[in-house]
Amino acid sequence: MNEYDSKAVGDLLNSTHGFEISNNPEDADLILLNTCSIREKAEEKVFHELGRWKKLKEKNPNLKIGVGGCVASQEGEKIAKRAPFVDLVFGPQTIHKVPLLLDSSKENSLAIDISFPKTEKFDVIPKKNDFSPSSFVSIMEGCNKYCSFCVVPHTRGHEISRPLDDILEEVKHLSNKGTREIVFLGQNVNAYKDSETLENKKKGLGLANLIRQSAEIENIDRIRFTTSHPFEFGEELINVYKDVPELVNHVHLPLQSGSNKILKLMRRRYSIKSYIEIIEKLKKIRPAISISSDFIVGFPGETQKDFKATLDVVDEVGFDESFSFVYSPRPNTTAKEMEDLVTYEEKKSRLYKLQEKLTNNAQRISRRMVGKVERCLVTGVSKKDPSELQSRTENNRVVNFGDSDDSLIGKFVDLEIVDSRSNSLRGVLVQ
Ligand code: SAH
Repeated sequence: MNEYDSKAVGDLLNSTHGFEISNNPEDADLILLNTCSIREKAEEKVFHELGRWKKLKEKNPNLKIGVGGCVASQEGEKIAKRAPFVDLVFGPQTIHKVPLLLDSSKENSLAIDISFPKTEKFDVIPKKNDFSPSSFVSIMEGCNKYCSFCVVPHTRGHEISRPLDDILEEVKHLSNKGTREIVFLGQNVNAYKDSETLENKKKGLGLANLIRQSAEIENIDRIRFTTSHPFEFGEELINVYKDVPELVNHVHLPLQSGSNKILKLMRRRYSIKSYIEIIEKLKKIRPAISISSDFIVGFPGETQKDFKATLDVVDEVGFDESFSFVYSPRPNTTAKEMEDLVTYEEKKSRLYKLQEKLTNNAQRISRRMVGKVERCLVTGVSKKDPSELQSRTENNRVVNFGDSDDSLIGKFVDLEIVDSRSNSLRGVLVQ
């Protein structure tokens, strides 16, 4: 989401002030930091980076520095207390105000707007003008779930969906520019509601409608979404996997913990049984579907037995490439007040055990892909070797391949997977 928002701010400043992206901070007239506060480490990084930029400002007093995103939303004016050289502060919902804030910023005073003016930003941000084979499209903002560990409702505000017609117009615009894959973005995309599904309680219906209508758009051949929540993964959404082949054979569905006791303390609103039921229904429709997930270890009250339950579910589901973190207490969340007796060392050791299992699973899945032909979307040149191209499989693995030319970028190709490496696969074009 931050990538999407940062790109939008760049495009907006280009249209209002003629700014262009500079690769060298020393040359810049304006440096913006779009921040994340989902865990404490991300927040600390903000102040380290600002410390480095302070030196640039000493050399160039005309340089303006701005901080946006969730740390800005959370800390507000306190940012300027710790870093008084910051000129402007904006939140995730006020990225469209950056040009105004910039114009009103003056020496020794902070220009700030961290309000939540619903989906106003989408009306102001210019349409993306460049071509990319895969494009993000934000469909909603904020979250109402109030999971006890999570800072998002406090920093991004309450759930609010963009109008369906606006989203479809953006998808059409992107497809005209050559985009073949759309990734719908939101904190909780299966809570998406358009005007027709606003009163309808069927879980996931709004997202299901959006996917069905987007799949009709010419040249849109792949649709992904992230992040969905198990609570709203209802029949309507599951049924889309039956009859919309554009919806990829991969779903990222955060589980967080394999213990019902911990899920309850996290206020996740589902049980292990109901999570597994969703996976079983999906596998019945798409036997080869790949499932990835997010996990938090060391949540307050997590015992060895609870942790073992997480390892057991990982074995049972056989997750593909997933994300896992040590629990980090966040401001204004209820979990922050819970008694936490497990040491940090123990939490780290649990994380290593979980990550080892997850990595082994993912590598096993990669090895199983060797020898198979995969339909891949060519996304650009390979990062390691510019004479090669990079592409992605349906389960989002990077596949690098040679003997090709740039005209394939933005096209689908069939690649035979010939090798599996730790972070990517190698493929050979099938004629
Ligand atoms: N909306 C998604 C979560 C998006 S945040 C959902 O509800 O599932 C991405 C991931 O960061 C989460 O799934 C969770 O695993 C992790 N995370 C969020 N808050 C955290 C915290 N306080 N400490 C550690 N990990 C956290």
